[in-house]
Amino acid sequence: MSDRIRCACRRCTIRGLMGPAVIITVGVLFLLDQMRGGDFSFGNTYPVILIVIGVISLAAAASPGDGHVSGPVPPAAPGVPSSTPTVSQNQFPGHGRGQ
Ligand SMILES: [Zn+2]
Repeated sequence: MSDRIRCACRRCTIRGLMGPAVIITVGVLFLLDQMRGGDFSFGNTYPVILIVIGVISLAAAASPGDGHVSGPVPPAAPGVPSSTPTVSQNQFPGHGRGQ
């Protein structure tokens, strides 16, 4: 999974911060709940998570996607032998090539 090629455009970079930011936010909120309680109990502060997710989504949507690489990594160049069986080019045998 670590050898996965990741897009380095600004949009994907910001989007990649979503997970860590949510985890840190949840940790801070639980810490506040443990240390202060009362008004800072998790039941009162959980909307902050939604705000963080929204702000990051907004920042990702507003940032330019220049150089964005979408989709999976292209397969190996043709001519390279692969272990998977190749699909026949004629999907309908007997119905092609003018016969
Ligand atoms: Zn990208």
